[in-house]
Amino acid sequence: MDCLFCKIVKGEIPCTKVYEDDKVLAFNDINPVAPYHILVIPKQHFDSIADVSDKDMEIVAHIHSVINKIAIDKGFSDAGFRIINNCREDGGQEVKHLHYHVLAGKKLPLYEAEKK
Ligand code: 5GP
Ligand code: ZN
Repeated sequence: MDCLFCKIVKGEIPCTKVYEDDKVLAFNDINPVAPYHILVIPKQHFDSIADVSDKDMEIVAHIHSVINKIAIDKGFSDAGFRIINNCREDGGQEVKHLHYHVLAGKKLPLYEAEKK
């Protein structure tokens, strides 16, 4: 499958890694809209959150756990952050591999991710 984020997982396209374990990879967005703009993705390919079945849903809890760890590690947990998941066409999803945007490092205006 020709998927940009699968290529990043395989190391075929470089990224600036923030966190990695056997199930999840987190890296800096190439076009940041906040001082911290981190993408957190499962290593397993899912087209979108709407394509994750109930039996696979534990990956989403794991992603949220990883986001909490990253927030503490980077020092923006106390101040706060925003998690965004764009799903399919109407949600504005451009890369068809499930991913969560984590925005932090400033007081975020509403709908920041829509300004891209
Ligand atoms: P979406 O609109 O699908 O929710 O977000 C896709 C995000 O992936 C965008 O914020 C875009 O800047 C980011 N992105 C696209 N291509 C690359 C890439 O090659 N490397 C990185 N690090 N981010 C990318
Ligand atoms: Zn993929």
